[in-house]
Amino acid sequence: MGDANRILHVDGDSFFASCEIALDARLAGRPVWVGGGRHGDGIVIAANRLAKKFGVKTGMACFEAARLCPQGVLCRPHYDDYRRLSQAMFRILEEHTPVLVPVSIDEGFLDLTTMDKHVWRDTRPLDYAKAIGERIRREVGLPVSGGLADSSRLAKLATDAAKPGFLEVSPGTEKEFLKDRSVRELSGIGKNRQRALAALGAVTFGDVAKLPSPLLKQKFGIWGQQLWLFANGRWNEPLLLEVKDRTTISSNTTLPYDEPDYEAALTFTLSEATRLVGQLRREQLQARELGLTIRFHDFTEIGGGHRFEHPQFLNSVINAALERLFRDVMSRAGKPVRQIRLAFWNLSRLDTQPTLWGATEAERWGALDAAAHTLNTRFGRPDKPALMTGAQLALRQLDRAHENPKAKCPFVPQREMVKKLWGTDADPLAHKGEWEKRLARVSRNLKSKDRA
Ligand SMILES: [Mg+2]
Repeated sequence: MGDANRILHVDGDSFFASCEIALDARLAGRPVWVGGGRHGDGIVIAANRLAKKFGVKTGMACFEAARLCPQGVLCRPHYDDYRRLSQAMFRILEEHTPVLVPVSIDEGFLDLTTMDKHVWRDTRPLDYAKAIGERIRREVGLPVSGGLADSSRLAKLATDAAKPGFLEVSPGTEKEFLKDRSVRELSGIGKNRQRALAALGAVTFGDVAKLPSPLLKQKFGIWGQQLWLFANGRWNEPLLLEVKDRTTISSNTTLPYDEPDYEAALTFTLSEATRLVGQLRREQLQARELGLTIRFHDFTEIGGGHRFEHPQFLNSVINAALERLFRDVMSRAGKPVRQIRLAFWNLSRLDTQPTLWGATEAERWGALDAAAHTLNTRFGRPDKPALMTGAQLALRQLDRAHENPKAKCPFVPQREMVKKLWGTDADPLAHKGEWEKRLARVSRNLKSKDRA
């Protein structure tokens, strides 16, 4: 037991809602929820504990939340502030551990395994964890919960059991802690595995622990063996820093109004592609395939893709292909555009030494793109590039022409704010698409009610 891992999982409580309270003290003690969607009043994306008591849930329509809890407060999202508060929270976490692995905007693992024995002389690990939580509440104004255990998997389960507050699964009590818990609580278990386990009579970890280990191995391979060890309190896993290579880059932007002008939509699409390609280039990557999906105001979708003969990194080449694709896709369309999704995948490493005077046109364009990129890196800001492509310039002028309404600037999608912080996969807005589908259903219902 002496060398067991000690891993602390820390997770913000109803993070976005708590941020709103941290930003406005008048909200303290009241039921609060944050609305998503283009006007910040579509679907509930976070609700605090008080609001949840009234039955307000993430994913519910805001008008439904207001009906359930008329005294509650709807907040529009302030992603910039959430990012700032998250950074402040992680700065504190960083001070308390040699290894910190953030997994989302409000969640991370701290490795306390290698903390010297003398650190524990005056405090116990659980008290240490609680002190971190108190400091975050005091200095950032955010409530957090935490779980301390011998693996990140178990620590996460401990947090869920603790909320709100902190809980330690002491060394040697792992099996006991898990005994009556449903295997459903394990993150990433999936419906199929749950069903297959239930077919073996295993609903709780206690049930799993009693099954013969070879049977689990036979049914589920390595995962089954690990599950058996985990259920028996014998899963010992050090905290690993996961370095994931990017396999795709995408953007998904809901326009601030339904855009009937396809040229404007095209201009925006090209400008967005330029931004994504810039991001790829910063990461020394190039893309072989691209995909475009356009969603219309009635939530129908249309889309297509293009595969380059070779991986590409040139804006000129990529935008030319994208423009052809856009025109091709939209030639069959006739409705205002609500949302534009753009994705690049099949990525590969980019190693280029551009020369200013290339022999072929492709090389010359390459040199030009590289020079523009260098200039922008050196002299530009994200919101104010030193050099703009035609599409970016056109978009800028177009945007000025559309001074009203100015709900949200299409240059900086809300998601992007969050994405920039902790990467793409662990993005807390990852389910935005799902919420939007629900929102779509809600607005359809509303419309049919209006007509009735
Ligand atoms: Mg959370």
